[in-house]
Amino acid sequence: MAKIIINQENFFHNLNQIVLKTGSKEKVAIVLKDNAYGHGLTIMAALAAAYGITEAVVRNQQEADAVRDYFKRVLVLGDVARKDVVCTYAINSLDAISLAEEGASVELKVDTGMHRNGIVVSELQEALQAVRQKGLHLVGVMTHFRAADELDSSYFWQKKQFDAVKEQVKAEGFADVRFHSHNSAAILRTQHFNEDLVRVGIAAYGYSELPSMFHTPPLKPVMQLVAQRVATRRLQKGECIGYGGSFEAPYTMDVSTYNLGYGDGWCRGDAATPFITAEGFPILGRVSMDLISLPTTQDEICIFNNAQEAARHFGTISYEITTALSPAIERVVV
Ligand SMILES: *Cc1c(COP(=O)(O)O)cnc(C)c1O
Repeated sequence: MAKIIINQENFFHNLNQIVLKTGSKEKVAIVLKDNAYGHGLTIMAALAAAYGITEAVVRNQQEADAVRDYFKRVLVLGDVARKDVVCTYAINSLDAISLAEEGASVELKVDTGMHRNGIVVSELQEALQAVRQKGLHLVGVMTHFRAADELDSSYFWQKKQFDAVKEQVKAEGFADVRFHSHNSAAILRTQHFNEDLVRVGIAAYGYSELPSMFHTPPLKPVMQLVAQRVATRRLQKGECIGYGGSFEAPYTMDVSTYNLGYGDGWCRGDAATPFITAEGFPILGRVSMDLISLPTTQDEICIFNNAQEAARHFGTISYEITTALSPAIERVVV
């Protein structure tokens, strides 16, 4: 099977760029959801902790249990709130408050304009009362930007909405509540970070999907995908490769198969517009479930060292390329 190489130096470099914005490591929560965006959950948790990060964000209890020993606090985005000394739970609806276990630490997610989930602003008062009645600890109040990566005004409009939310929460007498709204795009574009925490995902892994006019700090991709040679053969002119025989050798050529396919979460794509590997080899013919063919005899091949470039080829974003890679692929830290 292919291998994912994790570059510790690049990860720390990216975290440094975020810390320059927040002013301290304590204000950075590393988002580790979905197997750390495909980078490997416990590997990235250990590296983040070694760097000095004390806060993490995950998707569910299972992920939280896998990383809880590395952090002071773990925010669980999508699971039922229970009483726990390490975990806090995002509350996405009024229903989630009634489901929560008494004594649980919760962070209210407020919908300031993304309209995906969260307490709507008109229900905030009701939610705060319900939190009190239920005996929950309100640890945080958060929101999520719908377009921090776009050059429009909604980022500022949502910020304003959230400022009003902050005032309302304080006016209700809740003290020691942390407020956070920034994801990667928001922290990369802001020059005046003044909240308690940033929830940083993709930027820590080395990518910015912001348009270039935002002058974002230089980030370095953390992940490299490499594959190993399985077999080599010499094709004569006119011989075809793989399912459908969609690639026909234009001349005598040496071709090898490598241990990567769509079963590993690699995109199958369209054989008519082949993906070109980092070293310049086009994938020949169709991608199989566990194999690809390349015009080389190298024992090991770097498929990509920049998921954003791969994403561009496949018409998607860096998040999808890295997150799709199977958890079964071995991750190695260098
Ligand atoms: C995934 C997620 C983030 C991180 O977003 P990035 O764009 O990867 O930085 C932050 N907050 C919430 C609520 C998320 O779901």
